[in-house]
Amino acid sequence: EAEVRVRDLRVHYRINGTEYPAVANASLDLRRGEITGLVGESGSGKSTLALSLMNAVPEPGRIADGAIHVDGIGDVTTLSAKAMREVRGSALGYVFQASQNSMNPLKTIGKQILDLGRSHGVKDLPALLSRAKQLAERMGLDGNRVLDSYQHELSGGMRQRLGIVFALVLNAKVLILDEPTTALDVLSQSAVLKIIRQVHDENNLSTLIVTHDMGVVSELADNLAVMYGGRIVEHGPTLDLLRNP
Ligand code: ADP
Ligand code: ADP
Repeated sequence: EAEVRVRDLRVHYRINGTEYPAVANASLDLRRGEITGLVGESGSGKSTLALSLMNAVPEPGRIADGAIHVDGIGDVTTLSAKAMREVRGSALGYVFQASQNSMNPLKTIGKQILDLGRSHGVKDLPALLSRAKQLAERMGLDGNRVLDSYQHELSGGMRQRLGIVFALVLNAKVLILDEPTTALDVLSQSAVLKIIRQVHDENNLSTLIVTHDMGVVSELADNLAVMYGGRIVEHGPTLDLLRNP
């Protein structure tokens, strides 16, 4: 019943001919309806694991071994680039750390939502736009205004909230969030976490949230996976892990 099953995943970065393992034999299940928090010290492999779920590990990294099975899709580590583009952003919604999100600086946000819909074969583009507007408003943004804006007209916090709109607008079943609220002040952060929870619950999603913030973990994560040195060293209900550290 797990929607995503990571099995014995190994990801290496190759530097000057030597392969450095960033993820070493990691296994993890993401179940429907559950939010899993992925925590661990900086450099422990959290982002690399999150990127692997999208088969989007950047050069000079590569998935060296293991499998990532997603229900209805198959093993994403074996998908062609074309097949992967189709599921990335639609079946698998994602918000990467700010530097890795690729908003287009030359197009308004609304135009980019339309591009996203077109490239995933969405027929009813007006409905897509109104869904984007609705999501933006739930995130506390002025929907019409933000859809007419260019990236440079928006603050870091607004861009981060829009990243979540992009991730959700095509009705993804799996949501992968890497530090999605770091650019937000405490009040907006707490509001956005509430919306993530609501949208997650309404749509029975399988959600992974990478964070170093134990406040985010205790507010949002049903389960917790702890990484250390590329391995998942603990995995269980958040309440149990926080009670017996
Ligand atoms: P975390 O998200 O937990 O901070 P990362 O997945 O970013 O960890 O990094 C895991 C390991 O992989 C670290 O040793 C890091 O230095 C290395 N690494 C990450 N990205 C790259 C990259 N683009 N090139 C080379 N090494 C990288
Ligand atoms: P591309 O053709 O650029 O690979 P898509 O067709 O999937 O991307 O999406 C169209 C545009 O929507 C992208 O160029 C990008 O500007 C924006 N976009 C898509 N997904 C995201 C996201 N998760 N976060 C931020 N922007 C996104």
